Amino acid sequence: MKKLVLASNNIGKVHEFQELLAPFDFQVIPQGELGIPAAEEPHHTFVENALAKARHASAASGLPALADDSGICAHALGGAPGVYSARYAGEDGNSDANNRKLITALSEKEDRGAHYVCALVLVNSPDDPEPLIVQTRWYGQIINEAKGSHGFGYDPYFLLPELDKTAAELEPSEKNRISHRGQALRELIAQLQHRA
Ligand code: IMP
Repeated sequence: MKKLVLASNNIGKVHEFQELLAPFDFQVIPQGELGIPAAEEPHHTFVENALAKARHASAASGLPALADDSGICAHALGGAPGVYSARYAGEDGNSDANNRKLITALSEKEDRGAHYVCALVLVNSPDDPEPLIVQTRWYGQIINEAKGSHGFGYDPYFLLPELDKTAAELEPSEKNRISHRGQALRELIAQLQHRA
């Protein structure tokens, strides 16, 4: 098994990546298990934040590292909360507070369209001159009432009109098949296989 440090301690993401990478012989080790603290995310783009996180985890572990930076972009809000999704309601903001703020911000808006973004970066070393980088989107609508109990973050309010279900009503394997992170990881794996 190839060891890969995952630059995230978000338990929802850790489970998604472990499930998605299991068939490819990767042992995904969350950075927290190695005592590696979270990196700063000072940038204004998903890609830059993901690269910063991956470099940090690789430098601290001496292993290849995988990082994602993700968030939700509401179209009527000019893409907010975007890279600030995790801390939309403040540094200590939790999912409930973040969701309440998003629903309030959209209350007067007609356009409820939104998309999740996932930027995914894999580095072999902290100074890898050729990081693998992919970025994907998953489109949906923001609804006012929470539905479903799977997933995390904004999922109970993220409706997929073609399925008439929120992301939180999908079984984990179903979400992984179609989500921004699932799409990104499949693209990354395709690039890895192409490169090998
Ligand atoms: P990050 O960990 O800095 O990338 O922050 C990502 C944030 O975006 C999370 O804390 C969630 O608020 C939100 N987010 C990203 N992906 C998802 C998802 O699949 N479901 C629900 N919320 C998500």
